[in-house]
Amino acid sequence: MDFDLTPEEEAFREDVRAFLADNLPPLEERRNLGPEFISDWWKKVREKRWIGFDWPREVGGGGGTLMQQFILKEELLKASAPPLGSDYTGLGWVGPAVIQFGTDEQKKRFLPDILDSKSAWCTGYSEPGIGSDLAGLQCRAVRDGDDYVVNGQKIWISLAHVGTGIYTMVRTKPDVPKFDGITCLLIPLDTPGIEVRPIKSFAADHFKDLYNEVFFNDVRVPVENRIGEDGQGWEIICSALQKERSGIAEVNRHHKALERLIKLARKSKIAGKPAIENHEMRRRLAAFDARIEASRLNGLRTLTSQIRGENTSSDASLGKLHNCNLLVAMAETGLELIGGPSPYTGDTEASVYKGRWQVGALGWPTTVIGGGTANIQKNIIAERLLGLPKD
Ligand SMILES: Cc1cc2nc3c(=O)[nH]c(=O)nc-3n(C[C@H](O)[C@H](O)[C@H](O)COP(=O)(O)OP(=O)(O)OC[C@H]3O[C@@H](n4cnc5c(N)ncnc54)[C@H](O)[C@@H]3O)c2cc1C
Repeated sequence: MDFDLTPEEEAFREDVRAFLADNLPPLEERRNLGPEFISDWWKKVREKRWIGFDWPREVGGGGGTLMQQFILKEELLKASAPPLGSDYTGLGWVGPAVIQFGTDEQKKRFLPDILDSKSAWCTGYSEPGIGSDLAGLQCRAVRDGDDYVVNGQKIWISLAHVGTGIYTMVRTKPDVPKFDGITCLLIPLDTPGIEVRPIKSFAADHFKDLYNEVFFNDVRVPVENRIGEDGQGWEIICSALQKERSGIAEVNRHHKALERLIKLARKSKIAGKPAIENHEMRRRLAAFDARIEASRLNGLRTLTSQIRGENTSSDASLGKLHNCNLLVAMAETGLELIGGPSPYTGDTEASVYKGRWQVGALGWPTTVIGGGTANIQKNIIAERLLGLPKD
């Protein structure tokens, strides 16, 4: 593992810092700027080719190296910069699937809207009773001429209520081993026969990303919306999940959360004394710091493996497990310090720290379950990293 940056990488970091200093107003100032600030930001970062920075230049991306991506993400997080583009799922795994498995025509059709923040893809994997055992999915698509006809149901689909399209896995071959019968379709959400029904979670008012059920009733999807070959869906899923679970520069987010936690511990009291003086609390905060450092080192190890072209799926699982446990533990400590789950009164001054700690502590399912549960990550680590037997 080599932690030193080359002169070119150092120069890239300076370029990023200079751009942020020139174009990103301080956080307090940004809060008072209207929606035009964000559209202006996307325009500027698009011109820099930072939206889709890891995509090849010939499809409109930035062609950034893995190390440059890491540096860019690190600097953006340090500056609390807004996201690069609005289509998180499109940029994260739908676009990459189109790049890797799609035709030239599909690249021209789907990628520009993702890069220009005009599309909003959501992910259609889970079904009632089918989550961890994803390869067992049952949503059925039958070929009829130049179309597939889709029937079935998906569940827990984040953002489908505001999405433009659903990246969907369907079963096209029921009579082959389950991994071989899955196919990937990109389906506009305004296609006749699709019904989106919101699921209100117990914290629905707190979270902008509402989940949904999506029903398909005789939905006709042209074959040209199929990504990859008929039956290639599992390969596409594996590649996409690895991208969803890796997050190499997340440690800056953890550092910021710990800073806020330390501030909170200075203001809060335990047994009448400042919480920051409490031995157990100090020990806990120090342990968070050590866990963040472990996360940073694991992130660098994963990055090194990626640069070497090695398979990083088990490292990504390790990172996801460690990072989400850490976030949940920090949020729960925050909740303890403010005295428990006091009533959340919206994003107002009346709620302690604008409800940040309540939302963090209540939002654990988002971090822990989304993208594959903690148990599933442990299985992957046990089998692929530690070489333990399946049974
Ligand atoms: C915030 C959030 C957002 C989501 N967004 C989406 C989305 O956009 N699109 C989408 O398709 N899905 C989405 N999901 C669904 C998510 O992927 C599934 O909920 C998840 O994969 C678990 O599947 P399940 O709910 O069917 O639970 P199950 O698979 O039934 O699991 C139930 C319990 O059994 C455990 N378990 C299951 N199998 C094993 C095993 N082999 N070994 C050990 N333990 C096991 C699990 O860890 C869990 O504790 C989202 C979920 C959440 C919470």
